[in-house]
Amino acid sequence: MTITKADDVSDEGPVAGRPVRDGTRPRLRRPRRTVLADEVYDSLKAMLMNNAVEPGSRLTTDALAQEMGVSRTPVREGLARLESEGLVVKRPLAGYLVTPPLDRKALDELYTVRLLLEPAAARMAAVHATDQQIRDLVPDDPALRDAPASGAGYEDYQDFATEDGRFHDLLAAASGVSLLQESIRRLHAHVHTYRLWPSAGTPIEALREHAAIVEALRRRDPGGAEEAMRTHLTGAHARLTHAL
Ligand SMILES: [Zn+2]
Repeated sequence: MTITKADDVSDEGPVAGRPVRDGTRPRLRRPRRTVLADEVYDSLKAMLMNNAVEPGSRLTTDALAQEMGVSRTPVREGLARLESEGLVVKRPLAGYLVTPPLDRKALDELYTVRLLLEPAAARMAAVHATDQQIRDLVPDDPALRDAPASGAGYEDYQDFATEDGRFHDLLAAASGVSLLQESIRRLHAHVHTYRLWPSAGTPIEALREHAAIVEALRRRDPGGAEEAMRTHLTGAHARLTHAL
């Protein structure tokens, strides 16, 4: 596992509209071209999640910008986000190198750490979560409650992968311990496990396991929530190990 940094790149400027001493206010910032930046990031991420480039390959901003017909800025931003997720690593004078997908040992280590952190987070969430936080764990979009077909490419299961990441992040937040949430988020577990996805089978079991966790939280049952999370992670680890 690569040690990663926070992936939310803050772009806060001076607060527009707040007057400064001489009665003027700071100039409004030009809006970022967020949509293009997100599209470039999504496109690069799909390439990596589908393992369409060999691990160790070099990615250069210039070549990618040229291939996609965009300027270097969104490519640079996209690569920095992917670096924070551990999908590429920056090398001085060499640009970015594609990291290898998890091998068996790295997968085992990831689940060892998840099993230390996430059942504890679920136990605390059963006590500290608000009713709204528990409701938020169930996605609004019914389509996200259905599992995608197995063997699909990243583009097909991307929404489900995002939803899974959201579930675990919200639950960690509901523990009420921000450092625990940050530690869980920094593992970028869903990025690394879904990169192994194409042979990992349908996640219908994962959906049932999530529902069991939510049920225990609704009952305000700390032991039950902890156990349900342990069952989910143990099941996910076994499914991924089987697929490797
Ligand atoms: Zn999950």
